[in-house]
Amino acid sequence: MRRWGSGRSGTVLYGRARAGARLRAGLACALLTLSAAACGPSATSSASGAPEDDKGRPTPRTGFPIRYEPPSAPDRANAAFLRGRRVLEQTSAAVDSFVDSFGPAVRLGRTGGVAVVARSCGGEGSAYDPGARRVEICYDDVAQERALFEGAGVRPADDEVAAVLAETFFHEAGHALADVLGLDLGDRAEEDAADQFAALMLIRGGAAGERQLRVAAREYELSAAGDAGRGPAEGPADEGGRDEHSSDLVRATNHLCYLYGADPARNAGLRGKGLLTSERAGRCGEEWRGVREAWQKRLASVAAPSDRSD
Ligand SMILES: [Zn+2]
Repeated sequence: MRRWGSGRSGTVLYGRARAGARLRAGLACALLTLSAAACGPSATSSASGAPEDDKGRPTPRTGFPIRYEPPSAPDRANAAFLRGRRVLEQTSAAVDSFVDSFGPAVRLGRTGGVAVVARSCGGEGSAYDPGARRVEICYDDVAQERALFEGAGVRPADDEVAAVLAETFFHEAGHALADVLGLDLGDRAEEDAADQFAALMLIRGGAAGERQLRVAAREYELSAAGDAGRGPAEGPADEGGRDEHSSDLVRATNHLCYLYGADPARNAGLRGKGLLTSERAGRCGEEWRGVREAWQKRLASVAAPSDRSD
């Protein structure tokens, strides 16, 4: 079992993270900071300029308020690990800071934010739930990822588990941004954009983030190998093509390509080895620039729609 909602192939609760299944009721209000149009119980500005909700309460400053639900008994150690590593605090702060840099119109805290809920999911998998406007990160993902890496001989796998959960959060945050900011990308394109957002956020984290992105790529590779060895009768495999994510191997290769494209010197060892062919590597600088600029353009278009050029 893998982190279904974050789009590993075989997504059981795929619909929860799926762009096409999203409830868009809140979208009309998503751009409320762009216009004076009234749109219900969302943040408005008080005379003092401080954001308030419709009852005059201050809206949260953070775009991603985090809540840890009590874990089920089997998840106690997993929950302690997730809290102890502060994965959600660090990743959500990184997204907040990146998004805030585009200006007040994009600041998620002004729209009430996106809740981050850590909980026992019983294998459902981490996901973004647009109806509740929340990212759910599963304690059980910790055990699943640990088993995957330990099965590949990585012990201890603490850093690997933390890296994959960081990438999972960034992927779901990409869905959350698309939803809250009304970025209509189409189902498959949104999945790719969410992966690219995860790569962007990790690469922005410098050498440490790049290491985590390599681990996430490795995880996709291990997942693909697991699916190949499992056989169709046991699979969850691809669920008859319902999954709108790219295949695990494609996702792994894309991550490696962005890494190489972002810093060919530091990631020279990736070129021509394993999944990243020399031919593809030759295009990765351009691919990476495209990925980075696409997200910058999306966020900038919300910040200043009149300047929108795409
Ligand atoms: Zn996804």
